[in-house]
Amino acid sequence: MPDNKRITVGILVGVLLVLAVCFVLRTKQGSLWPAARIKLDSGYHEVMGTFGRAVAVAMDKETAQKCTRAALEQIEMVDDLMSDYKQDSQISRLNRDAFKQPVKVDKDTFEVLQKSIEFSALTGGAFDVTVGPLVDVWRCAAEANSAPTEAELQKARAAVGYEKLILDANDLTVRFSVEAMRLDLGAIAKGYAIDKAVAAMQTAGAIGGMVDIGGDIRCFGAPPPGKDRWLIGVQDPEKTGDLLGAAEPLLVLKLTNAAIATSGDYRRFALIQGKKYSHIIDVGTGGAGSELSSVTIISSSATDADALATAVSVMGARKGLALIEKLPNTEAILIPSRRRKFFKTSGAEKHIEY
Ligand code: ADP
Ligand code: MG
Repeated sequence: MPDNKRITVGILVGVLLVLAVCFVLRTKQGSLWPAARIKLDSGYHEVMGTFGRAVAVAMDKETAQKCTRAALEQIEMVDDLMSDYKQDSQISRLNRDAFKQPVKVDKDTFEVLQKSIEFSALTGGAFDVTVGPLVDVWRCAAEANSAPTEAELQKARAAVGYEKLILDANDLTVRFSVEAMRLDLGAIAKGYAIDKAVAAMQTAGAIGGMVDIGGDIRCFGAPPPGKDRWLIGVQDPEKTGDLLGAAEPLLVLKLTNAAIATSGDYRRFALIQGKKYSHIIDVGTGGAGSELSSVTIISSSATDADALATAVSVMGARKGLALIEKLPNTEAILIPSRRRKFFKTSGAEKHIEY
């Protein structure tokens, strides 16, 4: 073979090799190159006291539409069951009647309450959905612009405690063992709604997707066209931006089939006589506040990430990191109130893009 022909063949073989490597890499990432996957973004909808959206990746537009619709429906469904603002939700019904008699609830409500009790046990009571009476005390205090007295906090605490919540798995009933008990699923319902929405998108044929409720997010499967991974920003507690999280992110995480949830005092807090109080309450003392201004948990389940982010906010850096370090496939990134440094669990780095 003449030299120039040999060079041409060499170049051709080289190009083919590069194409083959691209093909294998793309296929591994879950998209069959060169088939065109499409992305559909539902846009933000007002849900659960914040904004939520679903992004579906599918092989055609109709499927993608079906997926985002299914996701939003699930979020509404969870909100209708678990909101303590909606008078006809199951949680409001429990709060009215569950001391008088056992109240039957849906499978979903029961499951969230069961998980809540598991998280209370796991976190030594730092996470506790019976926090309602304390939330009320702090809400009234904020309205009156006067911090609650120790006596008010102690009175509310007497009606708080997950061991006073009685679940019967045989007939899906819930009972309160003290009259003033009130449930508040504010620290877990968003995560649960995200998991339900992801499952609905998968059933509806999505090959990938993302669900975001108020900055708590879960992604799965193929990333959007033109991207090779899902990238998620973690907000800077000092640059809050608006509710849609428009501010510059502090960290960008790369996620594959994972969820993140962030708890913190940077967006929702009460101002009482100029002092900032967190909306996260330590049921052990009744006090509102945390040494951490932001806690981000990465986990395979959004429910777990949501509950654990709140729990670690209460537990603080030392105990919180020790707990998360023990849990499989779960990582934490904490930002102390007096910062600028992060605390991270040992496996968190692999999720950080920059
Ligand atoms: P966000 O709502 O900002 O995402 P969280 O997931 O941490 O933050 O939820 C905070 C809400 O959870 C509070 O507004 C309150 O309703 C409820 N809550 C407060 N303290 C606790 C606690 N120790 N355990 C469980 N729920 C809590
Ligand atoms: Mg939470």
